[in-house]
Amino acid sequence: GVLARSLSSLASQLKARIGELTAERTHVRQLLVVGRQFMADASHELRTPVMAIQGYSETLLAGGADSSTSRQFLETIHRHADRLGRLVEDMLRLSALEVRPAEEAIVERVDVGGVASAVVETLQARADAHDVTLRLDVNEGIEIGGDPLALEQVLENLVDNAIKYGRRAGTIAIRARTEPRTQPNRVEVEVEDDGPGIDAKHVPRLFDRFYRVDPERSREKGGAGLGLAITKQLVESMHGSIRVDSEVGRGSRFILEFPRFE
Ligand code: ADP
Repeated sequence: GVLARSLSSLASQLKARIGELTAERTHVRQLLVVGRQFMADASHELRTPVMAIQGYSETLLAGGADSSTSRQFLETIHRHADRLGRLVEDMLRLSALEVRPAEEAIVERVDVGGVASAVVETLQARADAHDVTLRLDVNEGIEIGGDPLALEQVLENLVDNAIKYGRRAGTIAIRARTEPRTQPNRVEVEVEDDGPGIDAKHVPRLFDRFYRVDPERSREKGGAGLGLAITKQLVESMHGSIRVDSEVGRGSRFILEFPRFE
């Protein structure tokens, strides 16, 4: 009786443990697949600018190009070197975020209005260059618990995208609000543009690394599709969430939710 009972309890413990190990193995395998995919995508992205730099510099070194052609080649080399630099920066930022243990994340009182107006100030010149109006609509005293630099980076990425992919002479609104009655512990921050919007079929993958809606058009604008992946990672490091609400022809609204500071 006793022996049989303890044997059967041992058996069920073993079974549970095997189940755990199997789940762990599946998880590790998934991580490996994700890592390999990242390597493949990153190498692919790095290859184009490297090849361009190699090709154009070899041509220049071979001599014979007149000075206006040389100048054009140098400009091309410079543009690709810039792209390479931005790509490496983005990759470093993403991997730094991934290796940082959660307990090292900075959690302090962040005044959303203050950060948002700093972002508007930083991007005002870029907005002017696109004839875009930036509208700030944040009440005083809205505070989240997080990292001010991370929030700044997040809003900068979203507003920068809204300028880059939005419409010329459009309007971008940055808002923050609380819903004291329904969601007293949450703060909602949003960045809305009146640009071309994003087709629903792209939305599920929009925050994936290297994902671009229109690779050709967005490569021209300098992105490798890492911006929103970095943004999402930063938001999650502050225990927040991000989603997008968009309609083709109407515009896009990126909605962030953060825990309120208390
Ligand atoms: P990138 O770093 O190349 O700019 P992101 O990850 O920031 O890439 O964005 C991914 C894709 O989402 C972009 O290629 C762009 O097509 C689309 N996108 C991002 N923001 C907007 C927006 N406000 N309006 C329309 N499309 C957008």
